[in-house]
Amino acid sequence: MCPLSIYVLVDALGWEIVRTRPFLDDVLVDRRRLVTVLGYSSGAIPTLLSGRYPSQHGHWNLFYLSPQRSPFRWTRGLGRLPRRLVENRVARRAIKHVSRRLSGYTGYFSIYDYPVATLPRFDLTEKRDIYQPGGLDCPSLFDRLQAAGIAWEAYTYHGHTDAEILALAPRRAAESEARVLFLYLSGLDHYLHYHVHDAAGVTERLAWYEAGLRRVWEAARAARGDVRMFVFSDHGMTPVRWTYDLGRDVGALGLRVPADYLPAYDSTMARFWIFTDRARAALTDLLADHPCGALLDQAELSRLGVWFDDDRYYHALFLVKPGVLLCPSHMGSVRFAGMHGYHPSEPTADAVLLASTAVDRSVDHITHVLDVLLDDQGLGRAEPLAGAPTAGADGRAPAGVPALEPAARGRGGEDGGREHAGAGRPAPGRAA
Ligand SMILES: [Zn+2]
Repeated sequence: MCPLSIYVLVDALGWEIVRTRPFLDDVLVDRRRLVTVLGYSSGAIPTLLSGRYPSQHGHWNLFYLSPQRSPFRWTRGLGRLPRRLVENRVARRAIKHVSRRLSGYTGYFSIYDYPVATLPRFDLTEKRDIYQPGGLDCPSLFDRLQAAGIAWEAYTYHGHTDAEILALAPRRAAESEARVLFLYLSGLDHYLHYHVHDAAGVTERLAWYEAGLRRVWEAARAARGDVRMFVFSDHGMTPVRWTYDLGRDVGALGLRVPADYLPAYDSTMARFWIFTDRARAALTDLLADHPCGALLDQAELSRLGVWFDDDRYYHALFLVKPGVLLCPSHMGSVRFAGMHGYHPSEPTADAVLLASTAVDRSVDHITHVLDVLLDDQGLGRAEPLAGAPTAGADGRAPAGVPALEPAARGRGGEDGGREHAGAGRPAPGRAA
């Protein structure tokens, strides 16, 4: 049988989760802590697949300002109806369903708890299935495999649950003619959002994934001589210690939405589009010295690779401290036990790369994973791109904060699927 490389993306498999628990230690002998990018899976997974920062590949938070091209334009009249008629489960589900149909988007589609009144101002970042060639606006792993004529099979939440993927993957690992088997497992993220404080439960859940992946490994090894496995993640999971209703503070400023400003409250950050001097002054006054977090300046946002040439993602960005959850937010009102999307310098935000063969010493950031996989396939590395953050891009040393020594620090220290939600769509991707 031909050689096989098994690439496994385990959403939210954090370094802090895995470093104290057994996880294929005998198979995955090279184990790396990876710094992630600021944001959520909607930005971090495209970064893994393209080797580029969000400012380069363009995918960041799921919602961005685009009133002209919003798939929710048709709902403009609904915002004038009494709130109770549109802000209910049935109406919101219908709005999501119709918008998805009208848009033709095939990527991850959710409206979370974004208010119906302001939905028509927003578009969704993930318009296509990112686990297929052409899923991003720049070359991804799948474009590179296709261009090189390397056959692969990909199994994701678009077609299967984690249990289904782990049930069918051993057979594919033994029988497939493809050179790459790509598995995206999203269920651990969902589990950790609710149970990250339950150490024994996390151990048990991790053991379930370990057993499943061991069956894949052993099936491949029994069928062929040359098998390699790379397990990697997009981010970790930070235990939530307290929640805060930032929208209440902002609402009390007496500013008008959307005449003065437009807010987007994600779980760990508040993004604002600001249209008047009055709003700029009031918001700056409130947020510049707020106990929950900080307004990030352009220098730091650039260093983190999330500064964009236009204003689609924000005019101003307020990031909460690790362990604070904005709740309620436009992502929902669940008081999650764990969350991600904090500053990448937070140790519990770290991702992993676990490999069955030795990996280049310098791999320590999720932007490096693609090159590891391209090396594995004997393909040339991704083209360096102008505009990449330079020194300090890992966010280890934000301005004014002393850098922590990673090694010392390490020792001392909703409906299932991606981004605490998920959807079903058939057919795993398959290259020609
Ligand atoms: Zn998540």
